[in-house]
Amino acid sequence: MKVYIQTDIEGIAGFCFFENRADQSMENFNHRQRMRKLLTNEVNAAVKAAFDAGADDVIVNDSHGTGYNIMFEELDPRCRIIHGRNCSGPHWLPLLAGSDALVLVGMHAMGGTPCAITPHSLWKINDGAIYMSEGTMAAAIAGDLGIPAVFVSGDNKITAEFAEKIPEITSVVTKEALSPYQACSLIPAAACQKIYDGVIAGLKNRGSVAPYRVSGPVKLELLDNAKHIPPFDRIGDAVTADTVSEAFLKLEKGMEWTVFDLEHADGFVYP
Ligand SMILES: [Zn+2]
Repeated sequence: MKVYIQTDIEGIAGFCFFENRADQSMENFNHRQRMRKLLTNEVNAAVKAAFDAGADDVIVNDSHGTGYNIMFEELDPRCRIIHGRNCSGPHWLPLLAGSDALVLVGMHAMGGTPCAITPHSLWKINDGAIYMSEGTMAAAIAGDLGIPAVFVSGDNKITAEFAEKIPEITSVVTKEALSPYQACSLIPAAACQKIYDGVIAGLKNRGSVAPYRVSGPVKLELLDNAKHIPPFDRIGDAVTADTVSEAFLKLEKGMEWTVFDLEHADGFVYP
């Protein structure tokens, strides 16, 4: 069994502020290191659970921000990790192929969700017929390949979106969101235990989880702005394609950050 673990940092227990990458203070350095450690522990809980549930291949995608957040030297050595610049896509897609299940750790709500922890990024499908977060977009891309999303963790707002779209998914609420920057959170050790148990349960149940499919053709737009407060702007152009995956790929290829990748083939320009 091959398990693909998609990760983000905003949904982990203990996280309730956007990171400030420009802040060079020791206080901010320590805070960010602490969040990275908490993320690493939650991902490790999911990796261990996947192997204990029978996986023989586990791939982790470090897909927040810089794509270089997880302290990989502390990860279970049986897994592999995709990391480095531009982990939002499209380079990770080929590694998803052949997976038996998608597991999502640390997810956050879509942009514009009231009272969610640091909600951002809003995928708009077919002029608003469907709205998706980054997490459910990953589930839809997996769904196109027939891969079920069996587990998600994050605040109570992102787990609610998943429950609506994929009722059979196993979810763990790491924190109740009280405002965009305040939560009532599980203590990290408790969150890790729940994630471990949840991933085992989700993988055992994978035969009963239908892959999340969005029927095409699809018009896709990405909405957000610098303050992450509606009304949002459209980022890049709207694209249309037969499937969500094709539309995602098409849209990502037109994005500033992907063009940046292609223009710097040496790969030594740090974002
Ligand atoms: Zn993130």
